[in-house]
Amino acid sequence: MKIGVLALQGDFDAHRKRLEELGAEVVLVKKPEQLDDIDGLVIPGGESGTFLKLLGEVGFEKLKQFVRLKPTFGTCAGAILLATEVENPKQAGLAAIDIRIRRNAYGRQIDSSIREGKLLQGKSGDSPLEMVFIRAPKIERVGPEVEILATEGADPVAVRQGRVMAATFHPELSEDTRVHQAFLDLCGADTPFDKLRAGSVRRS
Ligand code: GLN
Repeated sequence: MKIGVLALQGDFDAHRKRLEELGAEVVLVKKPEQLDDIDGLVIPGGESGTFLKLLGEVGFEKLKQFVRLKPTFGTCAGAILLATEVENPKQAGLAAIDIRIRRNAYGRQIDSSIREGKLLQGKSGDSPLEMVFIRAPKIERVGPEVEILATEGADPVAVRQGRVMAATFHPELSEDTRVHQAFLDLCGADTPFDKLRAGSVRRS
């Protein structure tokens, strides 16, 4: 499985290392046409406004088509790019996950922090997860099709809709590999995702 990491800006290399550690073949994506060769994409943290500038209109449209078809995981600025609605300030999103997200929402004193949140694991219960927040956005609304995968306090901090995942923290900066593994599991799921969700098909 070939996984791309968008490498225009931000902490793409930490994602590359983590994905390779988990056995994926990783391609650093710098040009829109490279999207044609990959089975999934990670959009790293960085500055979402800068990503938009660097992508340009053509890159944005190409990425928009990609996220409709293939599994994508956005962290922090990447989560902002994937959202339907972006606040503070308002900016364009790829509308791949029906969430409203507020940039730089945690205020100065906790601009950056490491906190313990919860990974929600359905029947197997919740488990603690270290979360690194860096000028993090906050998910303010989740649409009806959105599943919450992790929380910190009362806030959803990792979500999924179809085969698109977003996290407001940086799992690539913690040692725990479970969040990236969950994404690779999504990439490997060859069954239509709504069936997996409904539990009518067992994952192997
Ligand atoms: N504050 C950044 C933004 O608004 C996101 C920060 C990050 O990716 N660590 O895009």
